Amino acid sequence: MTQTPAPSRFAHVTQWVFDLDNTLYAPQARLFDQVEVKMTDFMMRTLGLDQARANHLRHHYWTLYGTTLAGLMHEHDIEPEQFLVEVHDINLEHLTPDPALRDGIAALPGQKIVFTNGSAPYARRVLAARGLSNLFDGVYGVEDADFHPKPTPQAYQAIFDKAGISPDVAAMFEDDPRNLVVPHARGMQTIHVAPQALLADHITDHTSDLAEFLAQIHLR
Ligand SMILES: [Mg+2]
Repeated sequence: MTQTPAPSRFAHVTQWVFDLDNTLYAPQARLFDQVEVKMTDFMMRTLGLDQARANHLRHHYWTLYGTTLAGLMHEHDIEPEQFLVEVHDINLEHLTPDPALRDGIAALPGQKIVFTNGSAPYARRVLAARGLSNLFDGVYGVEDADFHPKPTPQAYQAIFDKAGISPDVAAMFEDDPRNLVVPHARGMQTIHVAPQALLADHITDHTSDLAEFLAQIHLR
């Protein structure tokens, strides 16, 4: 695992898959703090729980199922559409455009997609706030995988089929290490984007600065 990418490891890559939250913006933006409040409110109202119990269950489902929504669907038959609209109705005013990141992504050869456990409309709002609109060949939300979230294998199968991703020539950028297990098993390059490096067999690279990492790839 390296901070600076070995050029040879990316020479064959022509398909680039990006997570959205905490990958295409820094975790300091803390958008998830807002989303979590909305999720807890939704659960209090829909399941008749107090705040402490709703908070506990929200985190429990995230741990057990990959997303809170997956747990709500599996255990409570919650309809996903209204949940996704409500929890993503958050303030993005403090996100700023990132020209260096835009340049780095634009210069990548081949196909680029966003693959998020959020909804696609929400992803487009975030991309616009970051100055990253009209840069990707596809923006895929959890609704595009029939509400199967990463890290379930069904999610990758659905999105990779739709986007025509071939793992042997693809790389994936993600902040949640759980979501890189399946991509690595399929032969993708896996780049963990996070402030802290994590030693794990299923992570081929780490960076705390995505724009800088992409600039290094272009020097290959
Ligand atoms: Mg993420």
